[in-house]
Amino acid sequence: MERILFDDMEIIKITVNPIFPMMDVYLYFIDGLLVDTGPSIRKRNLMPLLKTWDIRQVAITHHHEDHAGLARWIDKHVSTEIFCHKNMVAVAHKNAHLPWYRTLFSGPRLAFNARPYPEVIRTYKYEFYPIDTPGHTFDHVCLFEPYKGWLFTGDLYITPYPKVFLKEESMLSYINSIQKIIKLDYKTIFCGHEGVIENGKEMMERKLQYLQKIRKDVINLHKLGYNDRTIVKKIFPDRVKLETASFGSFSRRNLVRSCYRE
Ligand SMILES: [Zn+2]
Repeated sequence: MERILFDDMEIIKITVNPIFPMMDVYLYFIDGLLVDTGPSIRKRNLMPLLKTWDIRQVAITHHHEDHAGLARWIDKHVSTEIFCHKNMVAVAHKNAHLPWYRTLFSGPRLAFNARPYPEVIRTYKYEFYPIDTPGHTFDHVCLFEPYKGWLFTGDLYITPYPKVFLKEESMLSYINSIQKIIKLDYKTIFCGHEGVIENGKEMMERKLQYLQKIRKDVINLHKLGYNDRTIVKKIFPDRVKLETASFGSFSRRNLVRSCYRE
């Protein structure tokens, strides 16, 4: 676990799973606001920190267990408000039914009380505007702090050049969401898995261009009658590690299908 100071923000970097350290997750704590909670499997490591912080408000970027896994513990032990997308509230109120390997990797995501985001989250010094940004999930939210030019991007960014998608990820929504946030006046992005990206806007623009190109290429091949398998071979010839590690829940085929599905 690593503790990083950025401006007056405290950032925690921790591997999701201590035995298979293939993915980091970041927690951001700024002026009483906690952005994402981290996974429940890391409770023992994160709990002491969460206890020392004066958490007034919690913002959940989306329902995935590596971001909302400790929301239950916070809900029970900290007097705070937990905000999420209005379409996530019902999801938050129930325990997540995860495939066994996801529970094993990140721990369970148990039910917690959450409220829909207000128009703006005000802290003592800052204002955070929740921005609807579906693509990775239906309930994904970014948080924009206009005075600092900060954008908390949950899992919208991660990489400018994704090759694999989850089944529920939507290429068209990603493109629309990025087009929407690109209009905002931000510079630095705070990614859920990659940390602070100082040239965030530029990287996001790169991602937009890449996604638009991939979508166009896939649609063209699909129109020419190529099947998914062949399109995958043509566009992403190399196998991606995450496909094996996620037992196929992330796949190149999911990404390809998402391009022409809508
Ligand atoms: Zn996610």
